Amino acid sequence: MNSTEDFRTAALRYAVDTALCAGHGRCYSLDPDHFDSDDVGYAVVLDRAESASRRAAMEDVVAACPEGAISIVEGPAGS
Ligand code: SF4
Repeated sequence: MNSTEDFRTAALRYAVDTALCAGHGRCYSLDPDHFDSDDVGYAVVLDRAESASRRAAMEDVVAACPEGAISIVEGPAGS
């Protein structure tokens, strides 16, 4: 598999740096399919991968976090 195929078939997931998260809640307001909150309002990432075609929408959620706590990580499809 070449790198182009890797990109097309990669599964994307959110990751949250819990040291940066301040509990603003924008992530679980914007994308409740992928985020929940803990008992005090900090982000919890749900275990749900997305296809590479949703990268732009995921990047909007990343950009909405005022603390810069959210990133996107790639893994093989089905991971
Ligand atoms: S938007 Fe950012 S700071 Fe706010 S709960 Fe989500 S990850 Fe944490």
